[in-house]
Parts: sequence; structure tokens; C-alpha cells
Amino acid sequence: MLKTINCGDLGPEHVGEKVTLAGWVHRRRNHGALIFIDLRDRQGVAQVVFNPETAPEAHETAGSFRGEWVVQIQGEVAPRPEGTENPNIPTGAIEVVATGATVLNESLTPPFYVNEESEVDELVRLQYRYIDLRRASMRDTLILRHRVVKFIRDFLDKRDFLEVETPILIKSTPEGARDYLVPSRLYPGQFYALPQSPQQLKQLLMVSGVEKYFQIARCFRDEDPRGDRQPEHTQLDLEMSFVEEDDVLNLFEELYTELVEEVTPQKRLAKPFTRLTYEESMKRFATDKPDLRFGMEMADLSDLAPQTEFRVFQGAVDSGGVVKGFSAPGCASYTRRQVDELIDFAKSRGALGLITISLNGEPGLVSDLTMDQVRSAAARFLTLEQVKEIATRTGANVGDMILIVAGAAKSTNVALSALRNEMGARLEMTDPDDLSLAFVVDFPLFEYNDDEGKWDAMHHAFTSPKEGFEQYLETDPGCVIATCYDLVGNGVELGSGSIRIHDRALQERVFKVLGYSAEEVQQRFGQLLTAFEYGAPPHGGMAPGIDRLLMVLTNRDNIRDVIAFPKTQSAVDPLFGAPGPVEQSQLDELRLAVVGVGDPATEESAGA
Ligand code: ASP
Repeated sequence: MLKTINCGDLGPEHVGEKVTLAGWVHRRRNHGALIFIDLRDRQGVAQVVFNPETAPEAHETAGSFRGEWVVQIQGEVAPRPEGTENPNIPTGAIEVVATGATVLNESLTPPFYVNEESEVDELVRLQYRYIDLRRASMRDTLILRHRVVKFIRDFLDKRDFLEVETPILIKSTPEGARDYLVPSRLYPGQFYALPQSPQQLKQLLMVSGVEKYFQIARCFRDEDPRGDRQPEHTQLDLEMSFVEEDDVLNLFEELYTELVEEVTPQKRLAKPFTRLTYEESMKRFATDKPDLRFGMEMADLSDLAPQTEFRVFQGAVDSGGVVKGFSAPGCASYTRRQVDELIDFAKSRGALGLITISLNGEPGLVSDLTMDQVRSAAARFLTLEQVKEIATRTGANVGDMILIVAGAAKSTNVALSALRNEMGARLEMTDPDDLSLAFVVDFPLFEYNDDEGKWDAMHHAFTSPKEGFEQYLETDPGCVIATCYDLVGNGVELGSGSIRIHDRALQERVFKVLGYSAEEVQQRFGQLLTAFEYGAPPHGGMAPGIDRLLMVLTNRDNIRDVIAFPKTQSAVDPLFGAPGPVEQSQLDELRLAVVGVGDPATEESAGA
């Protein structure tokens, strides 16, 4: 090795030892004749001092050092002179008095600072990702990610799970996204599809008798870019035989509890995890991924609409929609401008508008409220009694502001849950170390796709209906509840799972509701259906995302910050310049012709 110890591992216990260090020049300072270098490796930073009197040659070499040069240093560990210790870094009590120095490699001036966490344009960071990953926060995330995955592997190994790799070149395994296709050279005109998840493969492994399977699996989904999506993401893919829903949930609760306590002990994890049904979650939080670190629960006000003179409320209910709202504590003092911001926010999330009702005055009982305390664009359409009723239902007190959205149920819920999260953030209701994990259960099996006029699987096609609901598959698909569950962390969907169908006839009925023809079923899912006829055990599982978990554990809202080499939001890799054109000869070999060409570079700058 070119070093005897890591910079970051040095401490007072090494005082007096002769060491060889190798790493990057993190910082350089001259103090009179002395040169100080902060030398960095993965473990941390150590101070090295070069004295022209005791080590003239090393001092001269150090004089040439520039930021991010790779250097090797010989020296002796010494306590820092009294008063110069740095309690902010782990190696702050010692320094290395250099006796020798070698330049291993020089560096151009990096495009951004490694030694500070300054804002850097993300495209530049991704283009020079190998430099970006040197920065402390990115290095720490890589380390944390390694520890998370290692913990998962060890935990599951102790519980008899087998890690099995499944192929990347396969046939379409749908999870509701578009497939990435790989053309076959040997069979021109035919394609592999990259797995959207190993779903069918893990089910086949259950038929194989593996009983307990997991994999840290890469999933490929060609989706339109969205904030926390990537063309490829990593899941903890898991499947078990002979289990019921609670067995899977209990296993994950244990895994995540122990994981968080071991890997991020500073987190305050709410225990036990909340479990709530989809219906309850939608009712209380207007979303199936509620952030449970704060209250501000929803109240349904639809039934009040006909009694009011307010057209906005009436119109929504008359056209089959809803009126819902919640109360933001202490926000009666919001200025006109702040309210306008919220209205714009609600509109940007799909609401037609936002009605606010501020209850002004000293904190007091809502029952004593008078109309001159009520500030709202809707005030003249509401009686005092109606305002009091709205306040009671939303749990508002004097001093609070009620936020109400009226419209179609779907868009109203989307806007209200976004507003609730926005108010949670504005009111600083969350502590970065609070962690709330919850299971949302009892999802509907299907949801109606208005655009295409057909039923879609709410989770995926392999999810089994809950006992007692099978009989409604054909007659009333919308009422069928699934044995399906989501894990939600601080308002982020971490993953989904279900107890699966393991019976051919039932699976075929579900495919039929989803609109697949018999030929399509045979062509796409024939392998699974056949397997079901050879002793398929009851089974179920789940596949929470690793990237999303890391985001929650590191309080990041950019998924790219927890992946070593991510794509941009427009699915471009600026480091390699992928996607990119290929040689004509490669296309010829594949017997492919390209019609119309997009340039990712220009699309990037246009779309970013
Ligand atoms: N395959 C599913 C997904 O990727 C998860 C599961 O049902 O296990 O979302």
C-alpha cells in the first residue's frame, strides 16, 4: 500500500508514530515559513505541517501543491500545539509533521470546490460526478447507502432468505410504465425488455420452492421524467411463500426499525408503525402517502355546500365533486400576499382555486366567534353558524386559517394534500430527525383509467383480491379491495407489495378485467400461468425502493443525490453523454433504421 494509515483514522493514540499518508490536497495555507496542508482521503482529513528547517525538501515539494493534487506524505504524528486544536474535526487534536512528500498526480483546477458544500449547477456536478462524489456530503451518502444495503443483507440472511439474481435481459414485466427495449442481434426484429421489476421472476422462484427470496434489484422504467423518478432505480425486492399480509408487514417493520436504529441512530422513529387503510388515509389526509409527522387532518364539507349561498361549493358538489379542507394553526395572521401565494400554489397543483377563512382575534372559543372576526372572500356567502360548523369540523380555533378546495374528488385531494405538506413545511412542523413510517393497506384492486376508458391495476396485475371480494371481479371491479400495501415514510411512498394470486383461473379473470385478450395473456404471461399449474404455493412480498429510503434517511428531496451516477431529470447522463448515437454498422447488425433523431444535449438544455 502507498499509505500505512488513513488520514481520517488518525487520533491522539497515534502520537509519536511514523506514518505514510496518501490522499488529495484538500486545503493549503502558508503560516510564515510553515506550510499547512489538509490532506483528505475517504476516511477524513488530517493536517500536515511542513517545516523548512527540519524537512527542507518536503517543504519545497509541498510548496508546489495545489488543490486536489494527489500526494503521498511521510511524517510523524504529533499533538497540535496548545490552542491550535480543532474540536470540529475528529483528527483535530493531532497533526502530522512531514519528513517527506511526493506528488503522485497533479490535478487541473476543479470546476467547483470540493472542500466546501457550495451550490453548484447540477449539470456540472453530474458531468464531473467523480469530483462531486469527493465532497463530504456525497461521500457520506455513499457510505450510508452501503451500510443500509449491508444491514438489509445481513438481516435477511439471518432470517433464512436467499439472495437470487434474476436476469436483466428478459421479456416485459409490467409495473405500469413503458419498457426499455434491447434489440436482439441474433434474432433481428425481436427484442428483450429490461425488467420494470423482477415481479414475475420472484413469483416463479416461489414456485421453485425458494420460499424466502430477496434481491437488491435494479428496475428499469421508461417513464416521463418526474421529480423523484429515475430511468433505473434500486429496490429491495422480496418475496415469501406461505405468508399472509401481516407476516410481510411485520417482517418489514422489524427490518426498518432495526435498520434505522443501527444505521441512523439519531433518527426519532415513531413506533410501532402506523397502519391505516387506504380509505382512512384518503379521508384524513387526502392522499395515500400521508406525512404523519403532523396533524392538519382533512374535513369533508361537501354536505354543507347546498346549505350555503356559495356557488363555488355548490357547483363542485352538483357536478359530483367534493368540498374539503383543513385548518392551519396560527395562520389567521397570513397577509394578503401570503394567501395569494397559497392560492397560486393550489392552482399549480391542479385546484381551480383555494378558499381561505381566517378566524381573527385573540385565541378563544369558536363558539364565541363573531362575523367581524371572519376574513374570507367567501364570508358574504356563509352564515356565522356555517363558519362555526366548518371551524368545528376542521378543528380550527380563533387565530387559525382554514384552507378549502372544491372540485372533482381526485384533483381536490391532490391539491389539498400538497397544501397540507406545504403548510407543514411553512410552519416548520417537522424536525429533520423525526421519522414516521406507516403502512397503508386495503387498496382497491383496480382504478378506472378515464382517458383510456378501462380498468388499470392499482398496484399490479398479480395482486390478489381480498377474501370475499373475488365474486365482484366482473360485476363491480371498482369495489374490489386488494391484499395490497404500501410503505410510506415522511410522506414519501417507499414501496408497495401484495399477497399474490397463485391460481391460474383467478389470474386469468384479473387479466380479463384489465382488458388483456386471451392471446396477449398467453404471449406475455403464459410462463407464469403455466407455472401456477405446477404446485404454486400461496405467496406475497414487497419491494421498497432503496433510493427513496436513502432520500428519507438523509432528508434530501433530490433522488439524484443518493445515487452515485444518476441520470438528469430528463433521463440524460451528462458524464458519458448517454443516450448517444451508435455506429451505423451496429444498427446494420441489428437491422435497425433510425427515423428522426433527437439530440439529448439540446433537449437537456431546453427541458431542464
Ligand atoms: N414488483 C412491485 C413493484 O416493483 C413490488 C411488489 O409487488 O413486490 O412495485
